Amino acid sequence: MLNRSIEAYNEALQYIPGGVDSPVRAFKSVGGTPPFIEKGEGAFLFDIDGNRYIDYVQSWGPLIFGHADKETLEAVCDQAQKGLSFGAPTLLETELAKEIVEIFDAIDKIRFVSSGTEAVMSAIRLARGYTGKDDIIKFEGCYHGHSDSLLVSAGSGAATFGMPSSPGVPADFTKHTLLARYNDIESVKQCFSASDNIACVIIEPIAGNMGLVPADEAFLQELRELCDEHGTLLIFDEVMSGFRASLKGAQGFTSVVPDMVTFGKVIGGGMPVGAFAARAEIMAHLSPEGPVYQAGTLSGNPVAMAAGLSVIRRLKKDPSIYQVLEARAKGLVGGFEKIANNYGVPLQVDVRGSMFGFFFNENEVKNFDDAQKSDLEFFAKFHQAMIQRGIYFACSQFEAGFICTPLDEKLIDETLEKIDDALKKIV
Ligand SMILES: *Cc1c(COP(=O)(O)O)cnc(C)c1O
Repeated sequence: MLNRSIEAYNEALQYIPGGVDSPVRAFKSVGGTPPFIEKGEGAFLFDIDGNRYIDYVQSWGPLIFGHADKETLEAVCDQAQKGLSFGAPTLLETELAKEIVEIFDAIDKIRFVSSGTEAVMSAIRLARGYTGKDDIIKFEGCYHGHSDSLLVSAGSGAATFGMPSSPGVPADFTKHTLLARYNDIESVKQCFSASDNIACVIIEPIAGNMGLVPADEAFLQELRELCDEHGTLLIFDEVMSGFRASLKGAQGFTSVVPDMVTFGKVIGGGMPVGAFAARAEIMAHLSPEGPVYQAGTLSGNPVAMAAGLSVIRRLKKDPSIYQVLEARAKGLVGGFEKIANNYGVPLQVDVRGSMFGFFFNENEVKNFDDAQKSDLEFFAKFHQAMIQRGIYFACSQFEAGFICTPLDEKLIDETLEKIDDALKKIV
């Protein structure tokens, strides 16, 4: 029963566009009313009607230790007692910066901001300022936040300059963005031949925003070579995969070293934090050290830093967490595959650390075109059936799923039983 959520949704619709503060939350692609959340507890979400859900979204990735995690909350509450924001430097920022920089070979310095969107937007500005070039290459199906130059869709074909994908974005702002196909190095070469003015290539090295689609190692290596040849920076957008796929994010899976990295989600442990990082030589171009301007009233917010510090330190202390979560994720998608097979439902699955993905698709998914050939109607039915059975999967075929530490084998087994029951009903 979602009676109170339906009421709450209708009221929200009167005051908030679409009733939500971020569009995907409205369940538009799967239908039905989004449950309004009362509280979270470990692996569980509870809505205002009292329904309990096993949560595979975890706030879209940040909560690797689950909802209302005791240690994170303690860190936040202790810090909050001392004040919510100072707009002046604190020890916490340096501590968190040190913890993160130590993990990655690619980066020497990091700047904290308040969201992934802000991190990527700033990283691209810095890449342009550093190289003195204007154009950028992004991949279809990769999401890098909602800043103007990244809201692009393909023009007449792949490897062309982009068109705005949203009203309100002037074509002048996207004409510097070239679109390439994920896992397709030829399309990147075409972009490089269309422009000799490319500041950076930005990629989710483990894409999580077209469903879970990892980049091939050979593809990343060729991307690295192309960037080196052209004096172009390679940016890994690890806002989702960072501290999720492994302690080193996607960089735990590839030997390719990026020039810049962006973070978000897990880095704030549920508080609004983003960051961008690079070698000292690149970061030296950033204000106040250098001329590339970037700022934020709440950047490096002490309460948010305290949450991030608590989470990152725990992950560093015990990186075996990732093996445990990966084993559970594999248990989930492996079981799902068997059940789907029994019902003759075509399914593609993949796992990277605590991230997992599944497509109702006959064929392997290597790029956004492939992902779009999935059976979206069936996904919508499946999603509704799972919500009704107390399993909270992301409300779109084009999102990744996440396992948090409190989500144990018992809950995976419960989920698999519900999947079986749901497929029985909808196939
Ligand atoms: C979520 C996400 C962003 C945007 O982060 P926000 O905090 O939502 O602004 C950027 N890049 C990637 C890869 C993401 O997954």
